[in-house]
Amino acid sequence: MSTLIIAEKPDQARAYMDGLGLKHKPKDHVAKGQTFLDPTTTVIGARGHLIELSEPEAYGQQFKDRTNLKELPLFPSKFLYDIPKENSFLFSEIRNEIGKADRIIVATDKDNEGAAIAFNIIRFSNGFNKKIFRAYPSSLDKKAIQNQFRQLEPIAQSWREAMAAIARSRSDWLIGMNLSRLYTTKLANEGIIGNYAIGRAITATLSLICIWNANIANFKKHSIYTLKAMGEIDGQDLQFISNIKTTGSDKLLNPKKEYISLLKKNGFLKKQIQCRVANISSDIKEMYPPILLTKGSLYKAMDKAYGWSQAKSKNIMQKNYEDGYQTYPRTDSGLIAKNQYEYLKKLIPNYLAAIHYTEKFIPYQLPDEKLKKYLLDIDTNAAHQGIIPSEKIMDDEADVTEDQRKMYDVVVRHTLTIFQSPYKYVSNVLKLQSNDVTFITRSTGLVDIGWKKLLLSISKQPNELLEKVIEYSKYFRKDDIVNLNLYTDISETKPLPLLKQIQIYDGGGLMENAYKYVENKTYASILKKVKGIGTSATRDTILESLINKKYIYVDKKDQIHVTPNGWLINKLFNNSIISSPVLTAKWETAYKKIAEGGFSADNLINATVKLVQKEFQRVQTDWNSIDIQEYYKNTKKKFDNQISIGQCPQCNSPVIYCKDIKNKGKYNAFRCSNKECNFVIFERYWNKKISEKNIKRLLNRQYTTQINGIKSTSDNKTYSAILELRYSPEKKRQIIAIKKKINTKDHL
Ligand SMILES: [Zn+2]
Repeated sequence: MSTLIIAEKPDQARAYMDGLGLKHKPKDHVAKGQTFLDPTTTVIGARGHLIELSEPEAYGQQFKDRTNLKELPLFPSKFLYDIPKENSFLFSEIRNEIGKADRIIVATDKDNEGAAIAFNIIRFSNGFNKKIFRAYPSSLDKKAIQNQFRQLEPIAQSWREAMAAIARSRSDWLIGMNLSRLYTTKLANEGIIGNYAIGRAITATLSLICIWNANIANFKKHSIYTLKAMGEIDGQDLQFISNIKTTGSDKLLNPKKEYISLLKKNGFLKKQIQCRVANISSDIKEMYPPILLTKGSLYKAMDKAYGWSQAKSKNIMQKNYEDGYQTYPRTDSGLIAKNQYEYLKKLIPNYLAAIHYTEKFIPYQLPDEKLKKYLLDIDTNAAHQGIIPSEKIMDDEADVTEDQRKMYDVVVRHTLTIFQSPYKYVSNVLKLQSNDVTFITRSTGLVDIGWKKLLLSISKQPNELLEKVIEYSKYFRKDDIVNLNLYTDISETKPLPLLKQIQIYDGGGLMENAYKYVENKTYASILKKVKGIGTSATRDTILESLINKKYIYVDKKDQIHVTPNGWLINKLFNNSIISSPVLTAKWETAYKKIAEGGFSADNLINATVKLVQKEFQRVQTDWNSIDIQEYYKNTKKKFDNQISIGQCPQCNSPVIYCKDIKNKGKYNAFRCSNKECNFVIFERYWNKKISEKNIKRLLNRQYTTQINGIKSTSDNKTYSAILELRYSPEKKRQIIAIKKKINTKDHL
């Protein structure tokens, strides 16, 4: 007999080889040998989806011209698949192994996509006549791997899940292929050139960002009037806040008038009043640690602790996973399995030693009722779990980078919080009353730092001292009379800040919280349950597409602006379900039914065909060239001025900052927004990054202040200089040149 194990990716395959004791080289994706499963066991790793839906061209020559709208929409009667060139060698290798094997174990990721990856490989290798089983990987640690291959399960459920994923990919294809071509061509005919990718996830995410930014753009400042008061204990000031507060709004344009009338009604138009003590309380409050790390919350934790970008965190979490120290990184679940909880508990001393934690650590057993919050339901077959350290300890001998250790430290600390006592603080409240108005003052202090202590050294927590807590009961008794001096606090309502990239993902990000933007309660609750649009694995890609398709623009402060192209697409899909998270909710309902076996994949695909037809009709009836042109022109003007850092010296158009995504920022530049103008200055002059202040100065006054530390690569000398803009006949544009060299120091 022979057994073939199919992994989803090479690193997963290598972990299986290690777990099963098969020898391999560091980069091998296939290994053979004897294991406890079978004397001839083969482990092979795919590279995600090896087989893809074909491009429209595969359905006929008439689809070759992307601008030919006459042939659209395209609804294949049979979907065609391609094996992209770069996958063909690997695919034939796997097909060969499938042909030779008596038994296949599918060990791809534990979700619909993982099931579909294996299904398509086996389908196109004609392997369904073999005995097929399922194993579910979670951690790439040796023991976990052996356990998972000892508990093989039947494949039937996975194949139903594969059907759901296949229905999803075909439906996404129908929307993406047809509508992207339709809109890119229609808008090009209007002279509004762009790469208008339309899709369920990308268009809905764009719409959420537009809602956010429109709220900021339409924000109107209003005043807030709050009645506050000062009292006294032992010569120490006490500040009270009352429940008299009026906030201006579009409906309440004069909050001051209402505020004064409230004061009048209560007889508060004087400076000093007398109040009665209504209540004195002192409570100990407990806070339990948050659920375990997800990809999004680990991004945030690394940003907070070390200022890491998501790209860096993503890279390091993949490394720690591949090296077997951390569990699967692309997860939006913060819950773990009972057996994971058990091994964590056992290994606490090893983890503490690994991160060199020298403080006292007294393990705490969470009460069962509280522990439930962190554990996966035994019945749910959740694909992903929270990010925790695996059973393999990153000790001092481990061959890892400093960055890997930094992340491991953060992951261990966050994980061990669930073995620490709750954070406790005392909250003392003094409540005074006059007529119907209450005046409250509070004093809080730390009683037990509990689990927060673990996170202290990686991010500072506010540390209120217990000694400073005022015990009001020492000074007051119920119904005592207290003198207060009234005053009015005037503040203003503030707009929400612009979104940053980190706020788009999970960990409470915009995509995960899409349900908040859905009015229908049923759909909102589905979206909440499935954690919004996209999956933890695809959200990064959706955000990247939004940037690459030039729907959004990320400025130097990492703030997200919507481009004119983005606003235009948002407007054109304003009344369509394509731009609503509701479509994702509807599809999720369908996947569930398909995976349960009660619903055919064709039902979802047919519904999508109808939706695409409706969208084509809508374009025919609703398209308004004048309206579109006007809207685009106005939006572009606003956008250019909003993000401009100065005027182009050649054509007076706004100059904007352009990030160089392809080369990781190497050629970040300030470019003229007028497409016919060639003006550009790069952010770096030789090795030196020029500040935005100096770029602005260059545009306004043609020269910079003195810039130190410019190192010429031609002679390796460091010097200081004032730079200026000068016309280059060679490049036929203004360039940066040296106006005046200040000094020259020899390079040592
Ligand atoms: Zn220009």
